[in-house]
Parts: sequence; C-alpha cells; structure tokens
Amino acid sequence: MGGEGRSSGMTPGGSPRQTLTFLRERFAAAGIRPKTDLGQNFLIDYNLLRVLVETAEVSLQDVVLEVGTGTGSLTNMLAERAAYVVSVEIDPRLHALARQLVGEKPNVCLLCQDALKNKNAIHPGIIERIRQALDVDPQRRLKLVANLPYCVATPVISNLLSLREPPVSMTATIQRELAERIIAQPGSKDYGALSVWVQSQCRVHLERTIPPQAFWPRPKVFSAIIHIESDAQRRSRIEDLAFFHAWIRRLFLHRRKFLRSQVLSALGRDASKPDVDAMLQELGLDSQLRAEQLSISQIIELAEAARKRFPTLVDSIRGSSSEADEDAASSEGVKEDQADSED
Ligand code: SAM
Repeated sequence: MGGEGRSSGMTPGGSPRQTLTFLRERFAAAGIRPKTDLGQNFLIDYNLLRVLVETAEVSLQDVVLEVGTGTGSLTNMLAERAAYVVSVEIDPRLHALARQLVGEKPNVCLLCQDALKNKNAIHPGIIERIRQALDVDPQRRLKLVANLPYCVATPVISNLLSLREPPVSMTATIQRELAERIIAQPGSKDYGALSVWVQSQCRVHLERTIPPQAFWPRPKVFSAIIHIESDAQRRSRIEDLAFFHAWIRRLFLHRRKFLRSQVLSALGRDASKPDVDAMLQELGLDSQLRAEQLSISQIIELAEAARKRFPTLVDSIRGSSSEADEDAASSEGVKEDQADSED
C-alpha cells in the first residue's frame, strides 16, 4: 500500500498528507493542542483514510456529510470524488486550520458548529445545507463518510437513521466496541437497542479494525471502519420509526429481566400483565425469553403488536426517546479515557 505521492508527502490530489509531522507542525504553528474530550484523534495513516473513502465508494452523484472536519485532510479527499461535501467542525481553532488547507472549493461547505442539535437530533441547519445540495440533481444521494469523534458517534449514526430520507450509506471510523455493538447478533452480550436500530434498517459490515498507533494523539482503544448500507425493504417493515426507536430503547433498558417484565416496563404503568401475556402468546414468544435473544424480525413484530394493542400508550412511548438511549446499557466509562494526551 502507499504508492503515489508518498515521497513528496502529497496525496495524489495534491494536498499534503496528514502525517504525524504534518499535524504536529500545523498545531505548533497555530499554538494549539488537540482536545481529546472532543474526540480529536487524527488518522495519520493515509492508506486508512483511503480505505475509508474507497469503502464508501464516493462518486460524483454523492453529497457527503463529514462530521468532524479536523484539519481538513479527509475533506479534501472527499471533495476530489464527491459532487458536494458538507463538513462540520465544532472547534473554531480546527475550523480555521481546515479553511486554510481546504481553501475555497465550489463543492465544499465548511460549517463551524455542533453537528447535533441535541442528543436526539442532527442540527437542522446541517440538514438544510444537505437538502440544498441534494436538490441540485435528483440523482444525488447522501452518504456519511467520517472519522467520527468518539463522543458523538452513536447519536450521529442513530439520528441520521431517524431522518425521513436517511443516508444511502454511512462509512465511518468509530471505536471498535461501538462497531461490535452495531453488528452484534441476537444472544450476544453486545446485542442491544443500537444493533436493532441499525440492523432493522441497514446491512452492516465491519471493514477493518484499526490500532491506536494509526492516530495522533493515540487513543487507548482500538477503532474500526464500519460500513452501514441503508436497506429500504428492511426499513419499510417499521411503520412508525419514532415509536420503534423509543420502544427498543425502553425494551433493552433492563437486560436482566425476562421478556414479560421488559415489555411491561417498556409499556409503562398502564399495561396489564394478562394483556402482555396474551400479546406474547399470539406472537409465539415465550415470556421467559429475554429481549436480547429475539431476532430483529421478532422485535419488529413485537413493536408492531404493542403499537396496535396499546394505542393509548403510543404517544407517551414515542415522546420518551430522550429519557433512554442506546448507550444506556454500555460502559460509559470508556468514553472518558479514550485518548492519551501523548504529544
Ligand atoms: N476528519 C478529521 C480526520 O480524519 O483526521 C478529524 C477527525 S477527529 C476524530 C473528530 C473531529 O470531530 C475533531 O476535529 C472534533 O473537534 C470534531 N467534533 C467533535 N465533536 C463534534 C460535534 N459535536 N460536532 C462537530 N464536530 C465535532
């Protein structure tokens, strides 16, 4: 791997390669240091950036959303291949560095803001910018391609799937544990609301694991490139996406309980045990099972049955999505100590 442009330190597209030396020099010149609490761990292996872009199969039909511009190296690679790139960076210091590196390109929009409005929604200003770029040509479609900041990877992926028109694919570098939760199969310890949410709408594939030394500063954890492809047929089985999302978050909240109790607590106080038992029996589900043993199809059937049998509870469940999230059952601790401040 490697090839063209290696000796000159330039990419084939004529931008400087994001090497350790390049990053250290740029940060030193700007008098700044990476903020690891913002997930500022930069990929310093050009070949892995290339794998990310190639896995995404970025083409001239694509409007690409990049969350976390960083210094703009990936942005430049994307701009060479895509119709349009919307890249968002929360840190004004890095936004300024990226402006210098990316320059004025007609097919790039660099935004300096939080990609999230809150933990349950992508910022509407970003959606509007994407919409404008998509509207230029009906052939255009949205892809997420990003070296995602660890701190917001779950809400970014989750919330993009809540959109009426979600990205056709999401290809991203994320923490390996998160990738394992996304691709987890029923019966495994990692299988939970996030696995169900993503796999109920998409095909998922773990492309590559990445060791900490591929980043600067080095995180304490391994990463992975995940490729998530939207599947309209799978998605069409879910009649009410907002309800389904809230439902699975509630269902997996108490992993040690049996299914009957999990369903009862997901439904809330007003549901009666005999009603829940009757529903589980109609679905052929043993109440001594646990939600994490059910296949995606069984969980969709259960959600649809609950929605129909308990119509008066649907609104309150749908509106409760902010109370529980996919991370509830995961180890929150990992997020805090992902990166050494190695310099
Ligand atoms: N794309 C660059 C690369 O590949 O080297 C940088 C990726 S770095 C892992 C993640 C970037 O996301 C950081 O620059 C960080 O400041 C930014 N970031 C963190 N939280 C963010 C948020 N909520 N919205 C937008 N950008 C965010």
